Amino acid sequence: MNYTPDSLESAARLILASFGCDENEASIVADHLVRANLAGHDSHGIGMLPMYGAQVKDGNLIPNQTPEFLPSAGAICIVDARRGFGHHMALLALDHAMETAAQHNVAVLGLRNAGHVSRIGNYSEYCAEKGFVSIHFVNVWGHGPLVAPHGSSQAGFSTNPISIGMPVNGEAKPMLDMATSTVAMGKVRVAHNRGEKIPLGWVLDIDGVETDDPSDMWLHRKGALTAFGAHKGSGLGIFVELLAGALAGKETVATGTTIPNGVYNNMFTILVKPEGFDDIASIEARIMEFYDNIKSSPTARGTKEILLPGEPEKRYSADRHRNGIFVEDETIEQLLTIAGTFDADTDQIRQTIQIAGK
Ligand code: NAD
Repeated sequence: MNYTPDSLESAARLILASFGCDENEASIVADHLVRANLAGHDSHGIGMLPMYGAQVKDGNLIPNQTPEFLPSAGAICIVDARRGFGHHMALLALDHAMETAAQHNVAVLGLRNAGHVSRIGNYSEYCAEKGFVSIHFVNVWGHGPLVAPHGSSQAGFSTNPISIGMPVNGEAKPMLDMATSTVAMGKVRVAHNRGEKIPLGWVLDIDGVETDDPSDMWLHRKGALTAFGAHKGSGLGIFVELLAGALAGKETVATGTTIPNGVYNNMFTILVKPEGFDDIASIEARIMEFYDNIKSSPTARGTKEILLPGEPEKRYSADRHRNGIFVEDETIEQLLTIAGTFDADTDQIRQTIQIAGK
């Protein structure tokens, strides 16, 4: 079934309010998740809410948290999210780092101890809207590793995403946002929930053999995701762990901290004001000259059109604004179930969700 983005956002706000988030936090998190759905990343959309609810119940994710802003050292800003909702804490931390960048033209942010920050591209978009080039490296801890280092049959780090955005006219264009695993873990969850097989190459079974079955990996964490691009992607994933975890966040998966339902992110972000290099108009003209050059280059056999990073997400968003967001029935039931355990009015939530086109 396809649902309207607005109605999914309203339902998400109700569910988050039942978790104890105040109006401001519920709006920030609901907006973040539905934007991820709109961008085509259902793995990081409203389907995350059951996990967040379980974390709140366990006391491992704290609604309405106040982050701790540690003393800045030059252009380095450190923010401890104290296990607050990552989407909210990350925006507060970025705002704080932008104040530092106003003095130095650059800021380096370490956000530590944050609940799941979800779709990293949202932060590149946020920074670009405020005129910043931004680079984000994010590691994941609180549960065992998920991704096998190149050559290993056993997971050694997590899906460790990277996002980079460059502002043109106040939007991130182009914008790269990618897990360093072949696919994000949420895509294995979505395939499992839809009863679909996964392409060979995404997951290794416990014997280190490629498998097309998502269920063992999603339900029992048996096996490992693969790193993208063989040894090169594996190397990048390792450096994301080192920058976000060993340097900024003070926690890598090697520490071995395992918390039931725990998923925490550390984020190492570099913010740059482009005007520190040249006037904005000249920089944007050069970005677009290069962008257009790539768009107009000849296509490889079997390819209709060349897309730049960020373009697929913009197209998904336009399509999903028009036609609604597909959410599988199992995910809707999971949302209602978790809301029910917080004594939310599930009939009201069910009625809030509107089918697109009706
Ligand atoms: P993906 O593979 O769908 O896309 C990766 C990048 O490739 C994007 O920038 C996209 O614009 C670009 N792209 C896709 N198709 C293209 C094409 N045909 N031509 C040119 N460019 C193209 O994304 P992913 O690696 O599966 O990541 C999914 C999401 O998961 C991301 O939003 C990421 O931030 C998120 N994530 C979050 C965490 C976390 O712990 N918070 C961990 C891992 C991933």
